[in-house]
Amino acid sequence: MLLDSHGRRITYLRVSVTDRCNLRCLYCSRHRFQWLPPEEILTYEEIARVVRVAVELGVERVRLTGGEPLLRRGLPGLIRMLADIEGLRDLSLTTNGVLLSDLASELKAAGLARVNVSLDTLDPEKFKRITGMDALARVLAGVEAALAWGLTPVKINTVVVRGLNEEEVPEMARLTLSEPLHLRFIEFMPIGEGNEWEDRFVGLEEVMERVREVGDLLPAEVEGGGPARIFRLPGARGTIGFIAAMSRHFCAACNRLRLTPEGRLRLCLFSDREFDLRPYLRREEDLRQALAEAVRLKPVSRAGTRPRRLMRSIGG
Ligand code: SAM
Repeated sequence: MLLDSHGRRITYLRVSVTDRCNLRCLYCSRHRFQWLPPEEILTYEEIARVVRVAVELGVERVRLTGGEPLLRRGLPGLIRMLADIEGLRDLSLTTNGVLLSDLASELKAAGLARVNVSLDTLDPEKFKRITGMDALARVLAGVEAALAWGLTPVKINTVVVRGLNEEEVPEMARLTLSEPLHLRFIEFMPIGEGNEWEDRFVGLEEVMERVREVGDLLPAEVEGGGPARIFRLPGARGTIGFIAAMSRHFCAACNRLRLTPEGRLRLCLFSDREFDLRPYLRREEDLRQALAEAVRLKPVSRAGTRPRRLMRSIGG
């Protein structure tokens, strides 16, 4: 079992399959970005080996992310390998949705259970301003395709940023009235060097107030012990969750690890301390020991830490 030195059991692994992205979101692409050379990126076989060992040691849920995971060629092949791992209970993917409508059926057939789609606005112009690409219609088509092919429940991740989209919170919330979507409002996090945030930060108490303009927030089911507080608007088909990563730390309940595209274990999103798994990739026995050793280094809390790498190079 993967137990850290503070008694937390690690059951959740986020795997970043690439550092490349087809969008340039304002808060995630602030610097010129040096892509990792392809030979430094883990192969699918290597990723599958890490996941297999992690699952043996108690990991139950895996989420593929990036960069933009759908940019990596042959991704359904990786999904097939992972879906075959006995003991892996939940295999999901986080995407910006731009390529999702073309790939949804293949992802489903390969064994992917569900997707989270990142979407900060429903206004095409604003979408272009935030992401650098005129692609809102493609993302919405991706969401429709995910629903149609049963990559469900489909979650929508919305980062609320002052001056960008906080006015749009009620409209986003209304989406859950007519569609079976699970919207998650996320606080902006000061991740990445130079990603100044104090004047952009919107606390989720304020976001909740804005949602209440649409209707009462009725408590809904608690999701597998995750960090979101979940509600439902009266009569809504979907739910609304609030992930207050900044204003309410959930370090004490943190059960996750991240694997970066080049094979480093990131022990805490907010700490640049990483554990390089590359020397241990050849033998499962070595990997087993390395994972157990790495987990013991997981910080008890992220207090006072400020990560230099941007989300897309860590794996959001
Ligand atoms: N490309 C995929 C996507 O868009 O979902 C996966 C990677 S992306 C880095 C994952 C998530 O991280 C996105 O929802 C993005 O909005 C979020 N994100 C990036 N930087 C962030 C920050 N500083 N604070 C909060 N969320 C952030």
